Amino acid sequence: MPKLSDPLRPVVGDKAAKRLATLGTGLRTVGDLLGYYPRRYETRGELTDLAGLRDGEHVTVQAMIASVSSRPMRNRRGSILEAVVTDGHGTLTLTFFGKGRQDWRERQLVPGLHGLFSGQVSTFRGKRQLAHPECELIGSGAPDSAKAAEFASELIPIYPASKDIASWQIADSVRLALASVEIDGDPLPAQIRDRYGLYGYARALSAIHRPEDMRDKVRAEHRLKWDEAFILQVVLAQRRRVSTEYIALPRPPVEGGVLDEFDRDLPFELTAGQRQAGQTISADLAQAHPMHRLLQGEVGSGKTVVALRGMLQVVDAAGQAALLAPTEVLAQQHHRSISQMLGPLAMAGQLGGAERATRVALLTGSQGSAARRRALLEAASGSAGIVIGTHALLEEHVQFADLGLIVIDEQHRFGVEQREALRGKAAEGRPHVLVMTATPIPRTVAMTVFGDLEVTELTELPAGRSPIATHVVPAAEKPHYLDRAWERVREEVANGRQAYVVCPRIGGDADADAGQAGGNVLAAGPAGSRAGGPSGAEEEGFDIADDGGFDFGDLGDAERPRRPALAVADVAAKLQHGPLADRRLGVLHGRLPPDEKDKVMLAFADGQIDVLVTTTVVEVGVDVPNATAMVIMDADRFGVSQLHQLRGRVGRGGHPGLCLLVTEAPVGRARERLDAVAATQDGFALSRLDLEQRREGDVLGAAQAGRRSSLKLLTLLKDEELISQARQEAEELIGADPALAGQPELAAAIAALLDAERAEFLEKA
Ligand code: ADP
Ligand code: MG
Repeated sequence: MPKLSDPLRPVVGDKAAKRLATLGTGLRTVGDLLGYYPRRYETRGELTDLAGLRDGEHVTVQAMIASVSSRPMRNRRGSILEAVVTDGHGTLTLTFFGKGRQDWRERQLVPGLHGLFSGQVSTFRGKRQLAHPECELIGSGAPDSAKAAEFASELIPIYPASKDIASWQIADSVRLALASVEIDGDPLPAQIRDRYGLYGYARALSAIHRPEDMRDKVRAEHRLKWDEAFILQVVLAQRRRVSTEYIALPRPPVEGGVLDEFDRDLPFELTAGQRQAGQTISADLAQAHPMHRLLQGEVGSGKTVVALRGMLQVVDAAGQAALLAPTEVLAQQHHRSISQMLGPLAMAGQLGGAERATRVALLTGSQGSAARRRALLEAASGSAGIVIGTHALLEEHVQFADLGLIVIDEQHRFGVEQREALRGKAAEGRPHVLVMTATPIPRTVAMTVFGDLEVTELTELPAGRSPIATHVVPAAEKPHYLDRAWERVREEVANGRQAYVVCPRIGGDADADAGQAGGNVLAAGPAGSRAGGPSGAEEEGFDIADDGGFDFGDLGDAERPRRPALAVADVAAKLQHGPLADRRLGVLHGRLPPDEKDKVMLAFADGQIDVLVTTTVVEVGVDVPNATAMVIMDADRFGVSQLHQLRGRVGRGGHPGLCLLVTEAPVGRARERLDAVAATQDGFALSRLDLEQRREGDVLGAAQAGRRSSLKLLTLLKDEELISQARQEAEELIGADPALAGQPELAAAIAALLDAERAEFLEKA
């Protein structure tokens, strides 16, 4: 009897094996074929909704033959046979071209019969058609007994098919494989199957292809999802375990150190979440193996101070901490605010420095050579307990005296390799690592995408935060709303507050489209209809659109011709000469020289600029509590999570925040996303929305290569409970049996998965 690992050919025959090898990534073994699950199931007698078909799709539909007609071709020998099929409402034309008469086909396609028809959808003279489809008539009295069995079932599996092989041909091969294969083992440990009442492996594989009814199918699917979740979680648990076997210098808290001083003088009270996260991190740092923790939290939840307290604990234990920021603006801001929060505690060796103090160094790619030399020296000598920087910190010649902790702010800009590069910089053992997310993501996603990290969440905001009122400003339909928006900005400024105006594009000298960006800044009119143009957001050398972040700039009305996105330079000029004349405007974007950027940010933080016209360079982390209003131009060109992140810049002080999402997008999908942002301030909910709109593979692929191939049925968002259970079970199993000595089938399944990942990785490289 063939096993799952055996080749398909002897089981399904030469011809079918050849065709199956063209499907997906190539079905070559019995296991490959049985792992090729139906895309959906047709209920016998229930016809496919034909209105849902789209041109270019390869489809398999169940429909009833309504009429058949044939005519000779006009200019050539041969005939055209047309069969019209229906779902009871709409129709679809099946067209067959024949060299001669096609009487045999006409006899076969009897009106009233139901059948499955498979082919590529196209439109011809306004009619939907399938040209030369594959046909399989249902209940046409096929005498063969295997077929009869097929017809006895209510549910017909519909497989993702291709032009070379139709769905029911795949089903035929599956039937042959199921009838002969011998499945004895089960990758899922028996105690787990028992605990959760799961189907055995053989039964699940059979039922996913040939379910008796919907219940049967659901149970099969559930069991096979377990396989996917569990195998993945076992791999991740193994990786976490390996990392705990690395050595790190323990950095236990020291009484009467800088941290204690800092806590005593903290101007606010930590939230319960901050305290709890602090304790967890403190305990991690005291261990003799490296911490690998993800700290994720709502925008404005105060992650920085939690990280800083960890850094100070390491400093007290005679080590150094590095803080890695994704942009120069953010690195500079961290340097400023951390130096300020520490005050005399950051002034070791200086006049006015505290007795127990350290120093904070800043290292960026663009600073002057004198400043840079000083920072490098402070890092290497150990006199700087905290070194803050951009990816310049990763460079080879940057050395630390005793690097104990790496904090990575706004994770999604940094890849796994970059984390590794920093890890190599510890003198002894490995440093502890704390990663912070820019955008909160659902826990199951975090557990999977950052599965080698432990996850800690900050869900509450510090007390006294004012809500941010968010409104959509439909500039095309309601021009006076836009006037009102600028009026609101003027009011904020009149009250001594500040505002951001965010645009998707830099413009001006910085790009070739200078001067062409039309759009409506001041008053609304019809949008220009020039197609193309840049879209989404650009910034800072890290291209936000493809950094694995959550950009949806191009979702929605992809077909709508669009003018170029509004640009900082043009908007600033128009505001200065129009609605915001006499206000102090500043301009900030990623292509300004670094010292200029810093100067602008400083001036804004210092209240010398009323309104900052900027790109998404302020998206992450920027913290100016006096800023209360934000107007986001062309808001539909940003992703949901990005908008949430952006508006997190206002309402940070005691004053209520206001965020206006200006858009010319017509009511539709793009507008719904904006409405969603306006309707909730829950970042976790919004990131779910973002994730729901992306394909699963993109979510996984963004962070780690390969993983997409292993998830066929599991969806991270809908199967949260299952994933949590699987993670717990995996953790327990690896704790008790790290090498999986007692689980040979599970070990084999994992080896196969890792092989496939490696193969995919090599292919990409
Ligand atoms: P995020 O989590 O988005 O990175 P930050 O760390 O930038 O947020 O914190 C936002 C602001 O909240 C900062 O100005 C910080 O000083 C302040 N903050 C942090 N924790 C508290 C707290 N417990 N009470 C009051 N303000 C706080
Ligand atoms: Mg932050």
